[in-house]
Amino acid sequence: MSEKPILQKLALLADAAKYDASCASSGTVRRDSTGTKGIGSTGGMGICHSYAPDGRCISLLKILLTNFCIYDCRFCINRASSNVPRARFNPAEVVRLTLDFYKRNYIEGLFLSSGIIRSEDYTMEQLVEVARLLREEHRFGGYIHLKTIAGASPELIAKAGLYADRLSTNVELPTEDGLKSFAPEKKPQTIRKTMANVRVGVEDAVEARKDRLLKKAKPPRFAPAGQSTQMIVGADGARDDDILASATSLYSGYRLRRVYYSAYSPIPDAS
Ligand code: SF4
Repeated sequence: MSEKPILQKLALLADAAKYDASCASSGTVRRDSTGTKGIGSTGGMGICHSYAPDGRCISLLKILLTNFCIYDCRFCINRASSNVPRARFNPAEVVRLTLDFYKRNYIEGLFLSSGIIRSEDYTMEQLVEVARLLREEHRFGGYIHLKTIAGASPELIAKAGLYADRLSTNVELPTEDGLKSFAPEKKPQTIRKTMANVRVGVEDAVEARKDRLLKKAKPPRFAPAGQSTQMIVGADGARDDDILASATSLYSGYRLRRVYYSAYSPIPDAS
């Protein structure tokens, strides 16, 4: 299979990332001036907005590393059985795009998610490598939001927290029964264990920070913007009460900064 040009990959993988709700701005009407004498579009994908810990609204390049996936979650356009064009970036390509867009002042950071390729750890390693290259090789000081892959090893989550500002693990659906029916390869315990690893990392860093500040040493870093999650609403039969109960338990159990709700949008060939 021949390699796609980077701009073609960008078009596919920015579009595929639009289902990840992490954006502070949304909900407007769809307008598109492409092919007319007008200017601007509300339908474009690829750049989303988020709030930095100090309250600033910042623009992020929002893409997937790949939309290949070995899982077959029924609500997801990127599931293994979906008939969509596929693409995959290597870490160096994501780094190049991020730096190029940053230098042109289009973005202030990166939101990076991915389908699962080979294994949870292999995928997480690739995501961490992007963040490592940005931070260590290029001294990138912009915002980085990484999706964690549920089930990735605690060591990889620890590394991700070292480089990312925010980490998020998708809970996907409000109830365990919903997950069992529509994403049988995803296990609620695995998702929660990954969230717990992030919570421990954030809390340890806060404690160590207090200690180091007392000793005037450089404080350790772990996802200073905390963790968030996304819940798809409308794909299963969850009631409002289920959704609220799930959100409450996530906020209190894992100290989430935010639960994002994403309205299920019917996808081609949905079962
Ligand atoms: S693991 Fe993620 S990308 Fe893969 S099918 Fe499930 S929701 Fe989609």
